[in-house]
Amino acid sequence: MPTFQTVRGMRDLLGQEAQIVTSIIAKAQETASLFRFKEVFTPHVEYLELLSAKTGDEIRQRMFIFEDLGKRQVALRPEFTASIARLVTTTLRTEPKPLKLFSAGTVYRYDEPQRGRYREFWQSNFELIGVDKPEADTEIILLTNKLLQSIGLSDFAFKIGHIGIIKGILSQDGIDEKTQNTILQRMDKKEYSLALKLVDSEKCQNTLQSLISINGKDWRDVVEQINVLVVGYEKAKAAVENLVEVLTLVTASTEISLTVEPAFARGLEYYTGMIFEVYIPQLEIALGGGGRYDRLIEAFGGEPTSAVGCAHGIDRTAIAIQTQNATYLTKAKVSVVVIPITESVKVDALKIAQSIREHGVSAEFELMGRKMGKALEAADKHGFDYAIIVGERELCEGNVVVKDLKKHEQSTVLIEELFEKIKK
Ligand code: AMP
Repeated sequence: MPTFQTVRGMRDLLGQEAQIVTSIIAKAQETASLFRFKEVFTPHVEYLELLSAKTGDEIRQRMFIFEDLGKRQVALRPEFTASIARLVTTTLRTEPKPLKLFSAGTVYRYDEPQRGRYREFWQSNFELIGVDKPEADTEIILLTNKLLQSIGLSDFAFKIGHIGIIKGILSQDGIDEKTQNTILQRMDKKEYSLALKLVDSEKCQNTLQSLISINGKDWRDVVEQINVLVVGYEKAKAAVENLVEVLTLVTASTEISLTVEPAFARGLEYYTGMIFEVYIPQLEIALGGGGRYDRLIEAFGGEPTSAVGCAHGIDRTAIAIQTQNATYLTKAKVSVVVIPITESVKVDALKIAQSIREHGVSAEFELMGRKMGKALEAADKHGFDYAIIVGERELCEGNVVVKDLKKHEQSTVLIEELFEKIKK
């Protein structure tokens, strides 16, 4: 018989790994609720036409594409935004704005597998639709900040830019949109000399070259440097003004660590305004990113609608938690196993297990019908904190025996006091 493996780039998540992913999703749901984003579930499989419409070559070439049995060209979603744009232009078309939508789940990209880069990975995704004001960009950054804080990460920092700065310069230089996107993709990969080769004018090349070298934590200082370079580029100037509005709001409303990088670009093609990514110092790969995409909904056949959103990589956040030893999310909860000594107390033992669960403590019932010695041995092996031993004699007096498996102590406890004891 062959031994089966997972498909390259796809993983099984077991034990603590699975638990961390669930906990991060729970934190993302909590954050969504705090910022009043409504959760939506969209299909993993969508029409290829929808998914490839505005994603950009980079991701388009990495999609899992197939023909279904009805001969439809479909693909596994490489991100959530196209599905959300579909919803906004159909089912949610007449919904009052702003629309705030949240999703979490797996997405699929044929990336080269390595640590933190998989072909099936988890994202939490937030989209704020129908607002062109910098307050909306601010909310997206604030919620990312809040999410990572609530997960227990420290020292994370935002990299913030504005796609309109480079695009404004390129379009004033007469470079068509397709070439602009190629240039931005190369810049995203830090292939700066290849990117600059696509620019004809020397002035434009020099301006871009100078922009590439600018970045810093003192955003006012960085903005001053950018302003010197964009003199005469009206669209780029407007982009800088917009970026300043966002940065002013963000830094005035929360404690945040950020650097501003005007030449920073992102792989997805649809951005039109502010863009950002977030990192921890111990990892070179981004934990999340996003930005403004004001023309996307229109491109999907909707009314012109402003939008801003972000996606957080859950697998990478899990790596960040482990790297920083942020045990907060992985702290084990109290667990007990309930063992009936004889058949005659089985029902009472089941009831005790049930009421322990009702008190919010996870309880396992000894299902294998083992004798006491073997049952305790197994409980120890499985890492339970307590074994609750239910015997006829103790039950008559309203008691059970509680064995603390970590401290190797045992005591007889009144059933009504059991919950206080194990919660401690
Ligand atoms: P994007 O949808 O490209 O904006 O990516 C958002 C986030 O998803 C990134 O910041 C990463 O944390 C995560 N991500 C992107 N690609 C992968 C991948 N191949 N494997 C794991 N996480 C990824």
